[in-house]
Amino acid sequence: MNPRLLIASLYLICFHLGQSQIIRNKTTLLMGSRFDITVVAENEQSADQFIQNAEDEIIRIENLISSWKTDSQISEVNRMAGKAPVKVDLEVIELIERALTLSKITDGAFDISYASMDQIWKFDGSMDSRMPSPDEIRASVSKIGYEHILIDKKNQTVFLEHAGMKIGFGAIGKGYAADRAKNMLIKKGVTAGIINASGDLTTWGRKPDQTEWMVGITNPLNKTKFFSWLPLADKAIATSGNYEKKVIIDDLEYSHIIDPRTGYPVRGISSVSIISESAELSDALATSVFVLGVEKGLFLIDQLEQVECLIVDSNNQMHFSKQLKSKPE
Ligand code: ADP
Ligand code: MG
Repeated sequence: MNPRLLIASLYLICFHLGQSQIIRNKTTLLMGSRFDITVVAENEQSADQFIQNAEDEIIRIENLISSWKTDSQISEVNRMAGKAPVKVDLEVIELIERALTLSKITDGAFDISYASMDQIWKFDGSMDSRMPSPDEIRASVSKIGYEHILIDKKNQTVFLEHAGMKIGFGAIGKGYAADRAKNMLIKKGVTAGIINASGDLTTWGRKPDQTEWMVGITNPLNKTKFFSWLPLADKAIATSGNYEKKVIIDDLEYSHIIDPRTGYPVRGISSVSIISESAELSDALATSVFVLGVEKGLFLIDQLEQVECLIVDSNNQMHFSKQLKSKPE
């Protein structure tokens, strides 16, 4: 073929490919949260099919790990606490193992057994500004302890050693679901998209016009507003924020996240955003850094590869991890 003709037809094919791709987006309520699923596809029909695949995957995970659904594997693990090990799917074992690794590297600041905590703090304004007694506070966290989550990989079981223990995936489950949905769509050949679980999101590929996805970091003072925008290619970001959920006692402001080691709500931080390779890791580290505080939190993040962090403290001061700090504006 005439080389000029070849180039012209290649150009036409590329142009056609670029043109024929569309971006489609759907918002749904899954795992008790708002999920925005965005995919790039050849046409609306296949886009809708991919979005449906992603939704099905997220629902599957919710049914597996939700502690609200009484027939989930995790509910069974919680019911059998102190009694007997429960057989679960391998992916549940692996998720718990990763959660336990996070507990170890955060010195227990992150702990999925937080779920047994007594609800002595109320963050909806109904608390009568009375500090619970030290005994009440201590008792409220007495069942927490990741060391007592026992995994038997060979028999594929989980055992919570003490009666009354409970595990929950509130700080890691949405991120996990987003990662799984993304990986499934990549396997199905979807070249680009965003899975956004209420601000905890992961992206892959580029838009049909070859520009990068721009994502907003949630404003710590207002979850419905954005704080800043950044391009995010094949990465995930999650934000853990105080928003409006807080309690004021003796003129001191406490956040809705409780340090599982002490039983006291965390003070001093408005929001933590974490950028990493996976939504699960970002999700879990955002909560971890919230509990650890600015200094210990940044110390941890600076030791992790490919993880970046932005903290807004309660005086609206911003703190960056080393890698972010060294980047030009
Ligand atoms: P959001 O609910 O806005 O996504 P986070 O990602 O910070 O906020 O997750 C907070 C949730 O994590 C809590 O509602 C609770 O379910 C769970 N959680 C709270 N404290 C801990 C902790 N120390 N370790 C693990 N999970 C926690
Ligand atoms: Mg989170």
